[in-house]
Amino acid sequence: MSTILFHEIVFGPLHSRRLGASLGINLLPYDGKLCSFDCIYCECGYNKDFRTKTKLPDRDNVRAALEDKLIQLQQEGTNIDVITFAGNGEPTMHPQFAEIIDDTIALRDIYFPAAKISVLSNAMHLGKQKVFDALKKVDNNILKLDSAILDTVKLIDRPNSPGYSIDKQLELFKLFNGDFIMQTMFVKGSHNGRIVDNTTEEEISAWLEAVKETRPKEVMIYTIDRETPEKNLEKVSVEKLREIGKRVEELGIKVNIAG
Ligand code: SF4
Repeated sequence: MSTILFHEIVFGPLHSRRLGASLGINLLPYDGKLCSFDCIYCECGYNKDFRTKTKLPDRDNVRAALEDKLIQLQQEGTNIDVITFAGNGEPTMHPQFAEIIDDTIALRDIYFPAAKISVLSNAMHLGKQKVFDALKKVDNNILKLDSAILDTVKLIDRPNSPGYSIDKQLELFKLFNGDFIMQTMFVKGSHNGRIVDNTTEEEISAWLEAVKETRPKEVMIYTIDRETPEKNLEKVSVEKLREIGKRVEELGIKVNIAG
């Protein structure tokens, strides 16, 4: 069982393949997972295996934990490149997400004004105005789109909303006017007897159309790095990721590849 759960509200700094020295903030339960997706590659495991009754940390606790850590890092002389909302699930599901973003921006400005603020999100909750507005304020608004084909999203990401629609997602992405980063996990293998492969020509063509239509300021493409709950998955080669990345660059969009 793959279980990388973060047991603190603030963790790290860790070296991130995509972001550099990253101080993590986990707004989800410390002993379980809470997500509106249930990706077959999720490093936190499947939702059903990590249910919890633990409450989410409240705004005051998050602010205090973050301030303590920032003071400590400053005293030690440890620099950070980024403060990243990630952790055990989907950060925008926290009911005080917007207020916590405001607190984080204020604390960052005091202690590490050069650090960026990143949010890694599955993009499911962009339809909520408060979530959308909060994401507009952060430096790196990183939104997941693993495929532009609904059937594939349902196979790989398994959104819990039956109304999930690619068209709707793309319309919401467009409202950021390019001020977002698209993140896409490329993966191959099988799940429940079905072939998983979001690197086929049909997949890449549809996905590139979505990139073209929504014009992110950057696209992050990556593949699995750690143990996954679905064991029948494998890494996509760096060559393949580069090939995909080249096609994104041809659209005039910056690419970040983590193989
Ligand atoms: S969106 Fe992220 S946290 Fe949620 S299941 Fe997928 S990988 Fe895990």
